[in-house]
Amino acid sequence: MGQTDLQTRHLSDRERRKLLDRYRVTTGKGFKLRDYDPGDTAGHLIAKHDAAALLNGGVEHLSALQEKLYAQDHWSLLLVFQAMDAAGKDGTIKHVMSGVNPQGVQVTSFKAPSVEELRHDFLWRAGRALPERGKIGIFNRSHYEETLVVRVHPELLLKQRLPPALIGKKIWEKRLKAIANFEHFLADQGTLVLKFFLHISKEEQKSRFMARLDDKKKNWKFSASDLTEREYWDEYESVYEETIAATAAPHAPWFVVPADNKWFTRLVVVAAVVDALERVDLKPNPLTETEIEALNAARVQLLGEAR
Ligand code: ATP
Ligand code: MG
Repeated sequence: MGQTDLQTRHLSDRERRKLLDRYRVTTGKGFKLRDYDPGDTAGHLIAKHDAAALLNGGVEHLSALQEKLYAQDHWSLLLVFQAMDAAGKDGTIKHVMSGVNPQGVQVTSFKAPSVEELRHDFLWRAGRALPERGKIGIFNRSHYEETLVVRVHPELLLKQRLPPALIGKKIWEKRLKAIANFEHFLADQGTLVLKFFLHISKEEQKSRFMARLDDKKKNWKFSASDLTEREYWDEYESVYEETIAATAAPHAPWFVVPADNKWFTRLVVVAAVVDALERVDLKPNPLTETEIEALNAARVQLLGEAR
């Protein structure tokens, strides 16, 4: 580890809030993706040479908050990651969660649905992967694919065995509403829902694909189908915009995270997770009389043990 890896710096609450206000979306009103620059790095607020220390600070803070979340066992946290290929979902998840106790986290990668999954409603598999109380659930892709890839490639919809009478003009609008309702319900049940769109530019995606082709160590990351999806770039921009607008809410915000600079993407995500956990009360539950008596009895028993 280099010297900088060991340094730690924390954002102040004010700095964190200012940073997140740039990227948090809580209403669809007036939302336009083109208002968000994938190359943004928050101007003077954050200097690149501080990035490693700030990430360490954020990871440390998150680790402490996760212990409280786990010990208190009331709230749960759901982190949804969506992005175009090569935007850095995997690396972001790896870095942001690097300090967290693995027992408290579950990552689910949502791929093309299985035969069994296709025999159920489109939220079924998401429901089965939700975090239990005290835990963090990470969705690497998610139920949102249902209004993104499935919308860009409507032939995927035909595989879902829906009654034809239910496939009408309003299907996407209804799906978006179903997702918004689902997340509202989760929030009411004590799940903090945060959604991240890692927003990469088309140029930066090209240069990351080129690196995957040129660098032998990165070859495994390249898949020819990524190039096919790239041809639908404009369609994806349009369905992302509509999806984010229809499902952004104060209880389930989207963060449109600039993704052309990996160091910056990670800082924003860790800040958003810390911020969400800081907003809820994670004080430990007070012990009941019976629990206190049990602790006292255990103490007496240990002290009374023969050597
Ligand atoms: P990486 O490429 O970094 O491994 P990834 O998330 O792109 O990560 P892949 O295995 O390449 O993983 O791709 C998963 C594919 O599954 C994506 O193309 C995604 O659009 C597709 N997918 C996910 N959910 C659905 C869905 N509900 N219906 C159809 N396709 C889906
Ligand atoms: Mg892929």
